[in-house]
Amino acid sequence: MKPFVHTALPTRVLFGRGALARARDEASRLGMKRPLVLATPHQSASGARLTEEVGGVLFDGAAMHTPVAVTELALARLREEACDGTIALGGGSSTGLGKAIAFRTDLPQLAIPTSYAGSEMTNILGETADGAKTTRRDPRIQPESVIYDPDLLATLPPAFAATSGLNAIAHAVEGLYAVDGDPLVSLMAEEGLRALARALPRGPSGVDEALYGAWLCGATLGSVSMALHHKLCHVLGGAFELPHAQTHAVILPYATAYNARGAAEAMRRIERALGAPSAAGGLYDLARSLRAPASLRELGMPPDGLDRAADLAAANPYPNPVPIERDALRNLLADAFEGRRPTN
Ligand code: NAD
Repeated sequence: MKPFVHTALPTRVLFGRGALARARDEASRLGMKRPLVLATPHQSASGARLTEEVGGVLFDGAAMHTPVAVTELALARLREEACDGTIALGGGSSTGLGKAIAFRTDLPQLAIPTSYAGSEMTNILGETADGAKTTRRDPRIQPESVIYDPDLLATLPPAFAATSGLNAIAHAVEGLYAVDGDPLVSLMAEEGLRALARALPRGPSGVDEALYGAWLCGATLGSVSMALHHKLCHVLGGAFELPHAQTHAVILPYATAYNARGAAEAMRRIERALGAPSAAGGLYDLARSLRAPASLRELGMPPDGLDRAADLAAANPYPNPVPIERDALRNLLADAFEGRRPTN
C-alpha cells in the first residue's frame, strides 16, 4: 500500500429533510446572535424567510465567481448592522460570498447549500477582480457547519440539477487520481459518484441520494488537490466566461479520457460506480441521458479561442496522472467543442 497522509475535515454536517429548521440553533451554537444571511437575487425570497427565522439581516447580492466588489458591499452591510457571522443559503455563489467574508473577518459561517457544487466542504475560495481570478486555500475559509436539507433542492431547475450534479461528480473523478489521494478519500469519491450517477436520472425522487453524493464529492474536493479537469474548467470559466456547472458537465468525459492511461485504478472505480465498461464513455453517456449540454460550442465558446485555451491550460499545470502536452490538450478541446464521443 502507498504511504499517505490524511487530514479529516473539521466541518460539522447536519443532513436530512427538514434540517433547515435547525438553522437558528446551529447559528447560536456557533455564537451568532445576529447573522448576515447571504443569497443571490434569484433566491432572495427564500433568503428573506430564513432571515426572519434566524433573526438576522439579509444581503441578497451574491454573484457567480465571488466578485470582490460584491464582497465589499456585503462587508459594509455586516459592519453597519453589527452582524456576528454569516449564513449562506444557495449554490456556490452564496457559499463563496460567505467564505470571502470569513477570510477577511474570521467570523463563523453556516452554509446551507441548495445545489450540488460542493463548495461548502472546502477551504478553497476563488474570487474575481478586474477580470482576473485568484484562488486560495486557508483554514478561515472552511465553513464551521453545513446544513444539507434535500427539501431545498426541490426548486432546482432540472437542467441545472443535471449540470450541478456532474460538477460534483467531477470532484470525485479527480479525487480518485489525486496526487495526494488516500484510501478514505477514494471511498468517499467512489460512493459519492455512485450515489449521484444513480440518483440524478431519477429527478426529484432522487434528491436525497444526490445530495448525499454531493456532500461526499464536496468532501473529496476539500481533501485533495484537483488536476487537469479542474484546470481546464478554471481556464474556460476565467478567460471565456463560460458558465461554471455547464463547463464541468461538458469537459469531464474528455479530461477523464485524457487521464485514462495514467490512472488505471481510478478508471476501474469510476466504471464500477457507473456500471459502465469505460469511465469516459460512461460519463459521456450519463451526461447525455441527463440532457446536459454536450459541447463547448453550445456554451458559447468562440472557436478561435481554442488555441488560447490550450496555451493557458498547458501553462502552470496542476499535478496530473498523464503529462500535460499542449497539442494533446488542443485536440481534447476540439473534441469537447464539437461534443464528439471520447474514444478511450
Ligand atoms: P450558483 O450558486 O451561481 O447558482 C446558479 C443559480 O441557481 C443562482 O441564481 C442561484 O440562486 C440558483 N439556485 C441555486 N440553487 C437553487 C435552488 N435550489 N433553487 C432555485 N435556484 C437555485 O451556481 P453553483 O454551480 O452552485 O456554484 C457556482 C459557483 O461556485 C462558482 O462561482 C464556482 O467557482 C463556485 N464553486 C466553488 C467551489 C469551491 O470549493 N471554492 C466549489 C464548487 C463551486
